[in-house]
Order: sequence, then C-alpha cells, then structure tokens
Amino acid sequence: MALNHRRICLCVAALTLFCTWGCERGKSAPANASSSAAQPAQNSSAPQMQVSEPKGPALRLNAERAMQYVKDIVTIGPRWPGSKGQEKTAAYLRAKLKNDSLIEDAFEGDTPAGKLAMRNFIARFPGTKDGIIVLAAHIDTPYPLRNTSFAGANDGASSTGLLLAIADQLRGKKLEGYSVWLAFLDGEEAVQQWAANDSDYGSRHLAAKWQQDGTTGKIKAFILADMIGDADLDILRDDNSTPWLEDMVFEAAKRLGYQSHFFAREAGMDDDHTPFARSGVPVADVIDFNYGYNNSYWHTTQDTIDKLSPRSLQITGDVILETLRLLNANADKLPAPAQGPRVPS
Ligand SMILES: [Zn+2]
Repeated sequence: MALNHRRICLCVAALTLFCTWGCERGKSAPANASSSAAQPAQNSSAPQMQVSEPKGPALRLNAERAMQYVKDIVTIGPRWPGSKGQEKTAAYLRAKLKNDSLIEDAFEGDTPAGKLAMRNFIARFPGTKDGIIVLAAHIDTPYPLRNTSFAGANDGASSTGLLLAIADQLRGKKLEGYSVWLAFLDGEEAVQQWAANDSDYGSRHLAAKWQQDGTTGKIKAFILADMIGDADLDILRDDNSTPWLEDMVFEAAKRLGYQSHFFAREAGMDDDHTPFARSGVPVADVIDFNYGYNNSYWHTTQDTIDKLSPRSLQITGDVILETLRLLNANADKLPAPAQGPRVPS
C-alpha cells in the first residue's frame, strides 16, 4: 500500500495539521508524530452516529492460534506472484478453510513484468440477514523483493493469519446478522512501482467482478486489515475510508478499552479498499503504517516475526469482531450505499 496524498495529518487534540515534507507516495510517515495526541481525529463533516448496544455473544480471537498461522505463513517464505511461495500459500489456505464455503478466483494480473497468475480466495460464512460484510487481507509479498529473503511477517502474513483466526470464530456458528465473507487477496503489492495500474491487482479484479455479478450492492461494509501485527500497535485513521465506518471501528475499540491503539495519527492510504470505495462500498482500512522507527521495517528484510506480538493480533481481531456486532446492531441506521462510483477524496 502507499500513502496517496502528499500529506499526513497529525491529530493534536482536535487540531489537524498538514505537513508538506517527506509525505509523498510510498514514503513513510514521520515517526512519533502524534506523541502528544490525546484525542482521536474527528471528521467534523461526518455525522456522529448514536450506536445501539450489540446483542448476543461477543466473539474473541484466539491470538495464540492467530500467531501460529502468521508463523506458518512466514515459514512459507516469499509469496510474490509466480513464486513457489504463492502456490504453497494457496495450498495452506485450502487446508485451513477446507470445511468452509471457499471460492477460488484465479486470474491473470496484467503487470509491468507481463501477465502473472494470481488467485484470490473468498471464504463465506452465511448469516441470517440479507447483506454481506467483507473482511479482507492481502496474501502476497512484493515482486521487486523476490531476490531477497523478504517474507512479510507484518506486511501480508499478519493480516492473513488474522483472517484465518477470525474464520475459526465464525465457523460452525449461526451468525445472527449479515453474512461475513473473508477475502484473501493476491497481488496487492506493486510489481514495479506503485501506481493505479500497478497495485491492488486482486482487489481491482474482485471489485470489478462483484460489480458485474451484482454482489457489490449487497455489501454493507468492507473492512481491510493490513500491517496489524506490529508489537507497537498504532492504527491510523485513514482519510480514504468511509468516515462513519471509521467511527464505528473506533467505537468498537473504545468499548474494548483499546482506543489508545487507534487513530492518534491520520493519513490517506491507497490499499486494497480503494477499488471497493470507487464502487461506492463503505470501506475501512485498519492499518498501522508506522512500523519501526520512521516506518523503517516496511518493505525491508527487517519485517520479521520478532517484531510482532500476539496482543496486537488480539486487539485488532477483537475490534474487528466487535465492529461486526455494531454493524449488525445498527443495520437500520447505516447510511445507504453511495449511488454510482465514489472516488476517494
Ligand atoms: Zn507492502
């Protein structure tokens, strides 16, 4: 993913500052930018939703098992399109999701390195209510790093493992609410250099496919997790996500006492949620784009398992599961999906 605005917004109390240094596409955010921030960023134009109390049991992640999934995926090694690791990851997902309603969506990404075989996986857990909530993560590692040992412990493996652990919580239960679909997306990373046509291959493919077959209109929310294993967990508020859905994620975090890990920083992210935002789907990118000092572990061989913590998986997983409950409890208040394509601001 990349920062797609030449800015990063730092929240200091209710004041939003804009910076003009070092914030260009793909560059990292200033470190410790928000150490004095005490309040979450607020979008004053977004109406505050009065949320209803969720009903029914809360689901909680098994963080140790999630961490084991992350380790398994890191052990596979690099997972760039065309690699052996890509095939091994596919086999791993098939094994872990073998008792679920699993769709494989093979396609060719048209990349600067030619046509590359890619494959999304979608595990579907049916609910009682008409509508779908999509939770997503990317499963690939960057093609440009294919000759290194880069195995993306945080960038790729952490959120893939998280989705597998969420599947464990959904499996075998009668879901009183919307269906939950878990989308494991291939080809998020740029093959050469981040650009609209060299990134998000899997999500662009899936968003187009769901536009064609009518699935898009049934999606109530699309929640993406990315880089959420960092032991120093610092989830940013994404300017390119849907404000009310970001508010709902923060409400879930507050309810669980995890708000100190959320939204002290604010930035505009370009990631796998972007194609769905363009389709008019409410989206939220749950991402910590501040990995190591000045994001220095990002896309380097420093992105290793020792930088991760099961607690970060617990926090992110539980907040996402609580967001599902809030979405179900407040279904009647959800804003209608946007009419026609919506370009992120
Ligand atoms: Zn990446």
